[in-house]
Formats: sequence, C-alpha cells, structure tokens
Amino acid sequence: MTKVLIVGGGIGGLTAAACLLKVGIDVEIYEQAPELSEVGAGIQMSANPTRVLYDLGLAEELDAVSVRPSAYRFVIYDSSDVLQEIQMGDTYVQRHGVPYYVLHRADFLDILERKVRVLNADVIHLNSMAEGFTESGDGVELRLSDGRTVTGDVLIGADGIKSVIRSQIVGETPAHYTGDVAWRVAVPMDGLPQNEEPHTVDIWVGPTRHAVSYPIRSGNLMNFVGVVEFDEWSEESWISKHPWEKLKNDFTGWHPKIQAIIDATDHDNCFRWALNDRTPIRNWSTRHVTLMGDAAHPTLPYMAQGAAMAIEDAAVLTRALQAADDIPAALDLYQRNRIDRSARVVNESSANRGLFHHDSPQALRAAFSERDISAERTAWLFSYDPLTVDLV
Ligand SMILES: Cc1cc2nc3c(=O)[nH]c(=O)nc-3n(C[C@H](O)[C@H](O)[C@H](O)COP(=O)(O)OP(=O)(O)OC[C@H]3O[C@@H](n4cnc5c(N)ncnc54)[C@H](O)[C@@H]3O)c2cc1C
Repeated sequence: MTKVLIVGGGIGGLTAAACLLKVGIDVEIYEQAPELSEVGAGIQMSANPTRVLYDLGLAEELDAVSVRPSAYRFVIYDSSDVLQEIQMGDTYVQRHGVPYYVLHRADFLDILERKVRVLNADVIHLNSMAEGFTESGDGVELRLSDGRTVTGDVLIGADGIKSVIRSQIVGETPAHYTGDVAWRVAVPMDGLPQNEEPHTVDIWVGPTRHAVSYPIRSGNLMNFVGVVEFDEWSEESWISKHPWEKLKNDFTGWHPKIQAIIDATDHDNCFRWALNDRTPIRNWSTRHVTLMGDAAHPTLPYMAQGAAMAIEDAAVLTRALQAADDIPAALDLYQRNRIDRSARVVNESSANRGLFHHDSPQALRAAFSERDISAERTAWLFSYDPLTVDLV
C-alpha cells in the first residue's frame, strides 16, 4: 500500500491527510509544534474548497461554528458606499451547490484535526520537526531534527511559506516583503453597532490601505484585517506586537464601524503581520516529493484564497495518486494541473492591491466601474471543482 509522509499539520497538511485516508491511502503527519493551533483570526472558505470539505462530510460541523454571509461587498473606506457586491446566502448556494463560509481559524483547524483522528487516531505526530529528506529509486526518507528517520513512498511538504522541503527541492528562493503589513484582530460582536445588521463580508477600500471585516464564531465575534502600505519593514519577526495607538492611527478618518471595531480591540493584543510573497514557480516536485499550499505557492491574502488553494491541492493530489500508474507520474499529473491555477490566484491577488488602494472615492469608483468582480470570480474561481475537474 502507498505510504504518504506529510510535513506540516496546518490546513493544507490536515486536509491532504483526510482526503488520502478517505480513499484508503496510508498517511503519517509530522508537525513541529507541540499542538495543532492557528492564530486567533478568521478565514473565508469559498465554494471551490468547500466542495472538498463537504465531500469529507464536514457540512454539519462547518455550519455549527461558521457564518454564511448574506453578501460580499466592496465598500468605500469613509462612507461605506457599496462599489460592488457578490450575492452570497441562498443565491450563492444555488449557483455553486455549496455555501460560502466565514469562520474562526482555530475552529476550522479543530474540525480538520477531528476528521483526521476519526479516520485514523494515530497518524498525527507532534513535536516532530522535519530537517530534510533523501530520495532513493523507490521512495523517500524523511529526517527529523531529533534524529529520527521515517520512510515512505511519497513526501508532501505542507510546511508553509518557510518550507524546508521546498528549500531542498527548489533551492533558496527567499520570500520578499511586499510592502504591506496586516493587522489582525477579533472582537466580541455585542457592543458593536453592526451587531444587529445582516452578516456581510466587507472589503473596505481606500488610500494606501484596505480592511476586511466579517463575523465569525456563529456571529459572536467580528474579525478584522487591516492592511497598510508600510515601506520600511526592518523587524526580523514576521509577526510582532504593536501599540494599539498605531492601529488606531492607521485608520484615522475611516468609517465609524471601523472605529468601533478598533475601539473594542484588546489594547494589549494588537499584532501585525508582514505580508511576504514569492514569485510563482513551475516545478515543485521530484519523483517522490512534492509541495502543497503555502510551501508551493504562497499568495497575498487579497482574494482570501491561500488556504483554498491548499485544499484544492489536497483533493487534486489525492486524485492524481489514485489515477496514475506510478508515483512520479502521479506527482507530475498533480503539479501539471495545479501550476496555472495557483499562479493565477497569486498574480490576481497581488493585482488586487492596485484595485483596492486609491486616494479618493472618485478614483475608487473609477477603478471598480471597469470590473464585474462577481462575474469574474464566478467564471473561474468559485466554479472550479477539484473533485471533478479533468486532470490532463
Ligand atoms: C491576513 C491573512 C488572511 C488570510 N485569509 C485567508 C482566507 O480568508 N482564506 C484563505 O483561503 N486563505 C487565507 N489566508 C492564507 C492562508 O492563511 C494560508 O494560505 C494557509 O494557512 C496555508 O496553509 P498551509 O497548510 O499551506 O501552511 P501553514 O498554515 O503555514 O501550515 C504549515 C504547518 O507546517 C508546520 N511546519 C513548518 N515547518 C515545519 C517543519 N520543518 N517540520 C514540521 N512542521 C513544520 C507549521 O508549524 C504549520 O503547522 C490568509 C493569510 C493571511 C496572512
């Protein structure tokens, strides 16, 4: 039986494990951390990954902790005038067959971890940091930092943007700072004026920055991401704590709803992420080793599709391993079918920076008047079904 070693127990690694175990492929996950965890922030799941999650039987669990937004809106930063809207709710389900969800990352990771453990209780190995691998004619040996080695037929690097497996396959391709930082906070919904309103995903667009707000935890928390152009990133850490006053200052003059979220934020817990990316590559596999998710194609979060791509990868890789005659052919089939789509997401996400950041409401209106984002995303993004798309 084929044995797959997965490095990384994030959204990508866990989804891959669940997809593979579901079809009877043997899996072991090696995660460096002492427990599986995610940051205290939200995540959006559009129809393209949600099809995979439904196929794993997770509909009920997702519904129990998520919000199904009524609309996805692009709004002007100070007036909240709506520039464009993508219909969500029942309209989205009718169009795509599955809902659009927004949820807390920790809740999502719990759902995925539970699913993997139900399929096989013993496959998640914590405190297991990968150092590198050695490939032989018929398999691969993974080396862990504590001296252990494990062998398998396939190794998947699902170890995120700083992937050691990627470094060994493609060499050092340093991630570079994009010029944007992202504040991420989540605040209790009661107490916010938007508490009583229909649940929407709002992308607030404006001068040199944008923000994203949506409800999570069944509507009990409001998630906020504030992206700010910031030229001089000099700190070593990608994630660092900053004074609340900086966050407040970054969004001076923005709509009262944004002020309300910032005012409700815990002053001692304001974290900022440096947003890094890499130029898309076209070869991330060897004969027995491949990459997925952020290890393969990290993307700016400006389409909310990074984890979605990892989930699509998991489904397509599983299908390729079932369909091809041998492992090298399977990894080739998988990669061939993921390169263009993931690169398109990376490139269009980066391009959204130019769409979202304009100095005046007039310039924003002009930029958005040239686009029909709902039609665009329906046509190629949400309509993609990783479970049935032809693998060529
Ligand atoms: C502000 C922001 C908002 C976002 N919003 C969305 C969104 O709404 N929707 C969406 O789809 N995407 C979103 N994304 C992107 C998404 O978070 C990532 O694309 C996704 O988490 C990548 O998952 P992954 O499993 O590939 O990697 P990761 O989540 O980085 O997981 C990698 C795992 O590997 C482990 N690991 C690393 N190195 C080793 C090692 N050497 N040995 C063993 N284990 C190791 C890590 O501990 C970690 O558990 C957002 C990103 C940001 C920054």
